[in-house]
Amino acid sequence: MLVIKTIQIIFVWEYIQKQYAAGHDWKYHDEEHWSPLCKEGTHQSPIALYDFSAKSMHYVPFNLTGYGNTFTAKMKNNGHSAEIRPDFKNNTPEIKGGGLPETYQMDHLHFHWQSEHTINDYRFPLELHIVHYAKQYGNLDEAKLHVGGVAVVAVLFDLSPDDDEEIQPIFDILESIQDDLNDPKELNDFVVKRFIPRDHAGFYRYEGSLTTPGCDEGVIWTIFTQTMPISRHQVETFEKIRTVDHTMLKENFRSLQPLNDRTVYIKISPIPHPRSTADTKKASVVAYLIPCIFYILFKNNS
Ligand SMILES: [Zn+2]
Repeated sequence: MLVIKTIQIIFVWEYIQKQYAAGHDWKYHDEEHWSPLCKEGTHQSPIALYDFSAKSMHYVPFNLTGYGNTFTAKMKNNGHSAEIRPDFKNNTPEIKGGGLPETYQMDHLHFHWQSEHTINDYRFPLELHIVHYAKQYGNLDEAKLHVGGVAVVAVLFDLSPDDDEEIQPIFDILESIQDDLNDPKELNDFVVKRFIPRDHAGFYRYEGSLTTPGCDEGVIWTIFTQTMPISRHQVETFEKIRTVDHTMLKENFRSLQPLNDRTVYIKISPIPHPRSTADTKKASVVAYLIPCIFYILFKNNS
């Protein structure tokens, strides 16, 4: 009996090991046990983005189709994130232009709280990933096997004093899926456009990877420079999501990865924005210092 039990335990242990290796079972704050490419890859995501080192590029504008359509969607807690899968019904939104090499179809959307990418060392409270695959490959799994097969569009959310009403419907669903793993709830009247900044002319571009195991590389990243607003209360709704072992998923971002030999490009929007809290603080320090310097110079000369 004891021998049979021991054999059963060995089988279960081997199964768990295989699941880890395949990237099916993994945890945040446990990156040393993520699948091999996550540790050995050299073009991984997310990365720290900086204005001063990004190379300026003049990409043609994005061409988005179907982003304004209204869909019925399913939203679920997958144990690592809150995921939205709209029912596209042969009317799948597409993105092209903006320096993308192909036309990409939307697959799904999911969130990271706090943000995975940082801009000028500022980490935002929320980051949305809109995952797309090159149309020619037909689906995400096939597209992952090819360089440039997957394109992720990232939207950063920054804190605002009030709840953002436009995106409020997802929070009503979020509350109902916090404890229910892989039990999708219906989300009516879902419009992707409400989740992307109205000015999406400015963005960072680089080649990286998926930010969860298996960390497949060859992913084309677009991170809009303009942010969307979100309240502290709305962010807290994400933080109450529970993982597979029923602990609260307080945050679900992967650590920053080395840039290595890659170049980050930036397309600057023609519309100027105070982009982030960090930038605004820097700008206000400069705005304070300049009159002080002039005052000292003037005083010394008079
Ligand atoms: Zn993601």
